[in-house]
Amino acid sequence: MTAPTPRSDSLDLIGNTPIVLLAGPSEAAGCEIWGKCEFANPGASVKDRAALWIVRDAEGRGELKPGGTVVEGTAGNTGIGLALVANALGYKTIIVMPDNQSQEKMATLRALGAELVLVPPTKFADPNHFVHTSRRLAEETPGAVWANQFDNVANRRAHIEGTAPEIWEQMGGRLDGFTCAAGTGGTIAGTGMGLKAFDENIRVALTDPFGAALYNYYAHGELKAEGSSVAEGIGQGRITANLEGAPIDTQFRISDEEGLEWVARLLREEGLALGLSSGINVAGAVELGRQLVAEGREDARVVTILCDTGFRYLSTLYNAEWLRSKKLPVFDWLG
Ligand code: PMP
Repeated sequence: MTAPTPRSDSLDLIGNTPIVLLAGPSEAAGCEIWGKCEFANPGASVKDRAALWIVRDAEGRGELKPGGTVVEGTAGNTGIGLALVANALGYKTIIVMPDNQSQEKMATLRALGAELVLVPPTKFADPNHFVHTSRRLAEETPGAVWANQFDNVANRRAHIEGTAPEIWEQMGGRLDGFTCAAGTGGTIAGTGMGLKAFDENIRVALTDPFGAALYNYYAHGELKAEGSSVAEGIGQGRITANLEGAPIDTQFRISDEEGLEWVARLLREEGLALGLSSGINVAGAVELGRQLVAEGREDARVVTILCDTGFRYLSTLYNAEWLRSKKLPVFDWLG
């Protein structure tokens, strides 16, 4: 008997995620709302895609060599993706993150073998901001590259070449709208660009949380933030290189309360355990669906991103004390 040959490489498990019709959101919008299940990636978030493309790009440019180190500043999910990809390819990872992120993300990064550097949460202009600290560490560490997910467009290429064609194929070439929130902007810009290349009439909407500046930028041309959000991984205050030229047709602003209501409903009614950015995305997709229906397009189909798993937020979103401390409604089954 011959030894079984592996079907594929572990990195081939990144992407090609399932897409699911969301019943509650579809009913609320009056048209079909679909969710792309990015929590099904090996690192349980959409950021595995960017991590793989950033590492492959650095290798391709000859900057990342065997035994090298990948350094990044990240709210967590990119770090998790980078740590897994780096392990698979024999690299080390150093991750810099603000110390107000969820305990689960920090514990996960440590468990995956990443070296973790925690810094206080500060404004981007502060030289000790996690992004600047990670750049400095990459410069100081021999054989290291800086992933630079905000301004490295290998990030959005992951979505132009991966997420968008997957959605197009899974929807049988028939969709009318796409929306999601922006952290680096890689997902919205890349998926938006990729989908428009198939059909320029697909309406691309930015769903922005409060505390981010992009809603006002796309609505009024002014980068201005209002309010705040507890959502991790989203909420951008500037036009990153990944956001440059993003084909945004319209924009919505969604509160944490609205996002949390969808997190609760998707869990209890559809058995999906998600993070808050997914809830905010779904709320935005419902808005986009309603907008299309109001224009007489009852057969509209809208796609959004289910960014990461709710298991990453057991001590926050799924914890009554934490929700109360943030003056947010507590899921009734948590007490
Ligand atoms: N949701 C979560 C939970 C994230 O970690 C991120 C990445 N920062 C996003 C959404 C946004 O993705 P992007 O960086 O591609 O804009």
